Amino acid sequence: MTTRHLKSLAVLTSGGDAPGMNAAVRAVVRTALDRGIEVYAIYEGYQGMVDGGDRICKMTWDSVGGILHKGGTVIGSARCADFRTREGRLKAARNLVERHIDSLVVIGGDGSLTGANLFRQEWADLLAELVEKGEISKELADRHPQLTIVGMVGSIDNDMFGTDMTIGADTALHRITEAIDAITSTAASHQRTFVVKVMGRNCGYLALMSALATGADWVLIPESPPAVDNWEEKMCEVLKAGREAGRRDSIVVIAEGAIDRHGNPIGSGYVQKVLEERLGQDVRVTILGHVQRGGSPSAFDRYMSTMLGYAAVETILSPESEGQALLVGMRENRITRSPLMECVEQTHAVADKIAAGQFDQAMEMRGPSFKDAFRTFRTLVRALPHPPTPGQKRFRFAVLNAGAPSPGMNTATRAAVRLGIDKGHIMLGVHNGFQGLIDGEIEELEWMSVAGWASMGGSELGTSRAIPEHSDFYAIARNIENYQIDGLLVIGGWNGYEAAYQLLKERENYPVFDIPIICLPATIDNNLPGSELSVGADTALNNIVEAVDKIKQSAVATHRVFVVEVMGRYCGYLALMSGLATGAERVYLHEEGVTLNDLVEDVNQLIAGFKRGKRLGLMIRNECANAVYTTGFMCALFEEEGGDLFGVRQAILGHLQQGGDPSPFDRIQATRLATRCVEYLIEQAERGSAEGAFIGIQNGQVRLHNLEDYPRMIDRQVRRPKNQWWLELRPIARIMAKPGPGQ
Ligand code: ADP
Repeated sequence: MTTRHLKSLAVLTSGGDAPGMNAAVRAVVRTALDRGIEVYAIYEGYQGMVDGGDRICKMTWDSVGGILHKGGTVIGSARCADFRTREGRLKAARNLVERHIDSLVVIGGDGSLTGANLFRQEWADLLAELVEKGEISKELADRHPQLTIVGMVGSIDNDMFGTDMTIGADTALHRITEAIDAITSTAASHQRTFVVKVMGRNCGYLALMSALATGADWVLIPESPPAVDNWEEKMCEVLKAGREAGRRDSIVVIAEGAIDRHGNPIGSGYVQKVLEERLGQDVRVTILGHVQRGGSPSAFDRYMSTMLGYAAVETILSPESEGQALLVGMRENRITRSPLMECVEQTHAVADKIAAGQFDQAMEMRGPSFKDAFRTFRTLVRALPHPPTPGQKRFRFAVLNAGAPSPGMNTATRAAVRLGIDKGHIMLGVHNGFQGLIDGEIEELEWMSVAGWASMGGSELGTSRAIPEHSDFYAIARNIENYQIDGLLVIGGWNGYEAAYQLLKERENYPVFDIPIICLPATIDNNLPGSELSVGADTALNNIVEAVDKIKQSAVATHRVFVVEVMGRYCGYLALMSGLATGAERVYLHEEGVTLNDLVEDVNQLIAGFKRGKRLGLMIRNECANAVYTTGFMCALFEEEGGDLFGVRQAILGHLQQGGDPSPFDRIQATRLATRCVEYLIEQAERGSAEGAFIGIQNGQVRLHNLEDYPRMIDRQVRRPKNQWWLELRPIARIMAKPGPGQ
């Protein structure tokens, strides 16, 4: 790629703060330094740009050390009235051009990005005025004829076009989900109803996704107000029926900007009053407020912001970007660049549609996965399913969990069972994975059997690593016949996929295996084909990141190197991504291998670093990175070679990685995939066809693959897919971890 010559650039955070902004700033600074560009941080947003002086600060490699795990923005953010005036922007232009800065990375919301674009449009005029007033030389102005802007959206609301996720939204969803989970347990104890208000003025993302993730009973969002005028009655009916069906808690989630069909705001107090009056229940309101913004960023916000920060500098360096205003975002799991103002305009257009009462169009503009999530939510929260249509063929589908337990398995099972029952079918739960299918541990699941499973970690059905062989097939065949199973959903990891494939291969011997089978990827290892992220991997990553944050904290006062071993079998996903999210200086992957020369180089790097004043070293190692150079070996080597400079400790994180309640992302993903799996089984069964398939999200889309293709897509010896998208991120991890020469 050709790059333009650039002397310096500046980065600022503006508008509302968002967790992940620090990761973005860190990535911008380190990528710029890696490319030999001077980089400035502008403190306190546009105010710092107008004020100049020490508010515009040259950054070094170390200036952005130790900030990745911090919430908010360490370089400060502010609302700045001065920047809204031309006079203010004139001062800002002078402060920049004096430092030879003509490229800006702006991390903020639509307001901040609009301001940046205005500044860019005025740039030449502003410089001309400065020349005219004798404040800068003509020569200086001529050297910087244009201002280049690259924006990244920092906003917890996830309310911006041009990116599927904004910086901070995933963390906010973590905070909200944790809060609603906690409220649910107290609500259930006292059989109370809670109304929870969450942020989102024009965007119901946080409300909808948190309601979906926590199994709430009702949600009110701006984009899709209740369809009927007597929605209050409808809501009360659903809540009442839920209680009658056995629910002990009721939760209503309201977005800040919730309105009715006529545009009148729906407040939490009003909903409380309605529920109290009509249901005679004890109703409490919780307004979550600023806790939603706070706290340490989630693993996703850390690595996405790192990827965006890296891409922002690359974008600035591209000759086509000169003088432009572009937005870097993440769409379908890939970095995208789009014209900044088009994204801002589209964002405003959604708000305009809502204000004009054109709700269908507003929903349309939010995209298909938002619409699907809303539809699914409405089915899952039903107090009771729709009764089967008279005369419809009722199929019997079995669901099982297979392989090691993975957070999100229960969420997926709940969604599958409810959606299947709601479509009039009979859902059977198989206990203990394929072993249960062999032993006949099978029972019918009712609507309420899966109540409360949305947020539960582990596997309520029970799981096992069993892969059927020999006489097992005969036992399975008998059970399929006895229980009249018309289709099978396998929610699991590697062994689950292997087992499903074995059934497919045995079809010629056992004709009863001629039923549709579908596998849903659920393993923390993220080592399955046809899926970029398996259910459970995000939770595991967050578990690792939290543990490593604590480990790092524990070592502040000592000179210490930690070698942290993470799971993943032969797949380095957890190692690389946790390395990106925690700022590890070295990640050891089986995919890359480890040589003695690598280790010598790493020891030398550590020694040089500690001699320079470094106090902590962090190396993350995939559990199977190398069979000979084990974690213990590496520790001993570093310890011996480090002499008095540093001590070494190993931390094998073990099973804490598999535990805990699923993260919001895993719950949403589990629900989305399970919905499609059930649809697939129904389609296949209705057609009388019996294909095997595995599902996954690739490039942001739900995709199905034929189970026959499974062996071609994997490397069986090392139990991982041939194609692993995240390996592309290794150069970014390297840039973030190692200062170049002279830095
Ligand atoms: P957000 O970026 O989160 O949407 P704001 O809308 O408050 O937050 O914008 C943050 C800052 O960006 C404002 O305080 C102001 O300095 C600047 N800004 C916003 N809109 C404009 C504009 N139209 N012209 C100039 N500056 C603007």
